[in-house]
Amino acid sequence: ALPQDTPQRIQSYSEALEAQQRHRLSLQQAIRGATQRGEMSLAFQPKISLETQEIIGAEALLRWHHPELGHISPADFIPLAEASGDILAIGDWVLEETMQYIVSWRKQGLLNDHFHVAVNVAARQLTRRDFAKRLLERLAGYGIPERFFALEVTESGLMSDMQNARIQLAQLARMNVAVAIDDFGTGHSSLAYIKTLPFSTLKIDRAFVMDIENNPVDRQLAVMITQLAHAVGCDVVAEGIETPAQAAYLHAIGCEAAQGYYYARPLPANDFIDWCNHWTPEPSPLTAMELV
Ligand code: C2E
Ligand code: MG
Ligand code: MG
Ligand code: MG
Repeated sequence: ALPQDTPQRIQSYSEALEAQQRHRLSLQQAIRGATQRGEMSLAFQPKISLETQEIIGAEALLRWHHPELGHISPADFIPLAEASGDILAIGDWVLEETMQYIVSWRKQGLLNDHFHVAVNVAARQLTRRDFAKRLLERLAGYGIPERFFALEVTESGLMSDMQNARIQLAQLARMNVAVAIDDFGTGHSSLAYIKTLPFSTLKIDRAFVMDIENNPVDRQLAVMITQLAHAVGCDVVAEGIETPAQAAYLHAIGCEAAQGYYYARPLPANDFIDWCNHWTPEPSPLTAMELV
């Protein structure tokens, strides 16, 4: 028989919901102004070429350290900031901060010409009519050549205002700002927009990578996603690589680049630069044939 909900259980359930609701609200309030209070920072995770093992770029990932609650995951606070609209100010801060790092790293001669830094962009930001224009003006203001900068957008980010997203992305693509579609395969996928939107990169979500060694279905899906990307002229970055075998398999199927704890966790800027300076490209110890 199905368990019966007693009034008491219902009450404690609604109390739990209420507590959760309060927690969300207080987080949402705490987000406002967190950048000005210096509670937010960026971490950088390297992207590695599976062919040459060279560092091809980095992804900037937002970090929030709340004075009392400690570290709060972007997976928890980004959706709240999207809902409240605070993501617009936070997103601006992320763009600004990233550009300042790029300027300073270039001054120190740390970035070669093939290195880009990618920033995640929320749906809400892409609904702005002047998103691309402002971004390009800001890059110009810092004297950063467009190719050093890239964006990552999720499928849901595109769906919310497809028409405008298309205009903004086309404007960026014309100016050589690479745009990646993030977490591919986990959202409300429509093959139509991969064909019609000007992406340069498709990121295979970690969900398809984590069991790749044991799960033949995941291996097939990774092959299909990679072929699909190549068919529409995109290159492929795999997320969440944690083992050399995963890297070897993805390399074997033609995936161009990878990111993951196997190489490096997202690191604070200084640690990231140290990491880059110590990285020596070495071919993967496993040959592809051991896996396929
Ligand atoms: P994402 O853009 O797909 O970023 C990849 C996430 O996977 C990051 O989580 C990264 O730390 C994590 N990751 C990387 N390699 C591995 C691995 O080998 N194993 C595992 N288990 N995880 C790995 P993070 O930093 O917690 O960010 C979560 C999500 O929050 C991001 O997913 C992105 O959608 C969003 N986010 C982060 N920063 C920003 C931002 O500045 N703006 C916006 N709009 N969203 C952001
Ligand atoms: Mg991303
Ligand atoms: Mg992703
Ligand atoms: Mg992901």
